[in-house]
Amino acid sequence: MTAGPSVIHTSGAIRAEVLAAQAAGRRVGFVPTMGSLHAGHTSLVEQALADCDDVVVSIYVNPTQFGPHEDFDRYPRNLAADCRLLGQQRVRWVFAPDTAEMYPPGNATRIEVAGPAEPFEGRLRPGHFSGVATIVCRLFQAVPADTAYFGAKDWQQTLVIKRMVRDLGLPIEVRVCPTVREPDGLAMSSRNAYLTSEQRQQARAFSLALEQAHVDWQAGASVATITDGMKNALDAAGIAIDYAAVVAAETLRPLESLPLETAAIALVAGRLGQTRLIDNLPLSPRGSATC
Ligand code: AMP
Repeated sequence: MTAGPSVIHTSGAIRAEVLAAQAAGRRVGFVPTMGSLHAGHTSLVEQALADCDDVVVSIYVNPTQFGPHEDFDRYPRNLAADCRLLGQQRVRWVFAPDTAEMYPPGNATRIEVAGPAEPFEGRLRPGHFSGVATIVCRLFQAVPADTAYFGAKDWQQTLVIKRMVRDLGLPIEVRVCPTVREPDGLAMSSRNAYLTSEQRQQARAFSLALEQAHVDWQAGASVATITDGMKNALDAAGIAIDYAAVVAAETLRPLESLPLETAAIALVAGRLGQTRLIDNLPLSPRGSATC
């Protein structure tokens, strides 16, 4: 029987473990999560295990990235089940701090982010990316790993984190891993657990809209046509649309006036009842044979 991961609750203790492993010549990978783990998370762990000798997974539901009317209180939490899952994977440490550990009483410092943090999620969720950047920076101090792994599922978040790492000169490599989907295409998310069975069917429209966007993109359709197509598909499924857009993948800027070979991405976000879901699909360069 393999031993499960060691569960560590303080920054000082996990930092000492990671530094000792590195001093012994071991490469350490880090997967930050909010728990309620699914195959999207475990795919990040698999990549980290493939690249590194030891892997740390953090599990912490970060209050500062939730808005006042968002789902912080009801966000699913199950540390015991998460640790069992990670025990099947050869994860060495789980870092599970409490809020007093991550935000000491009287704390008054936040990381401010602009650039890729401004449109889309940043506009709809004021303060969200400041909360994300603050906790990720804090986690990187506690877990001074060689490489950190993030999911392309939260594409804008990956841009914000990569920019923060560059801007602050943080000594860690960021690796972005592909989105893991359910067999019918729905991107895995801890929030999928909120969906009723009817909403679960409706939610297929997110990935179907993105797939159609990819087909239309390859066929040479305009950004406006593709965007309208995504909006119609989401609307027809009863999804309250927050946005549906095709933009430059690395900057999230409009594609007009950018070179044709600029990498593009389709982004969608919307609500089914109380549940808000996001998804995206990188658009491979347009085929040369367009109609
Ligand atoms: P969360 O626990 O939702 O904060 O996610 C923790 C990490 O897992 C983030 O880097 C997410 O982008 C990533 N992640 C969440 N869902 C998926 C998915 N379906 N596929 C790949 N990565 C994911």
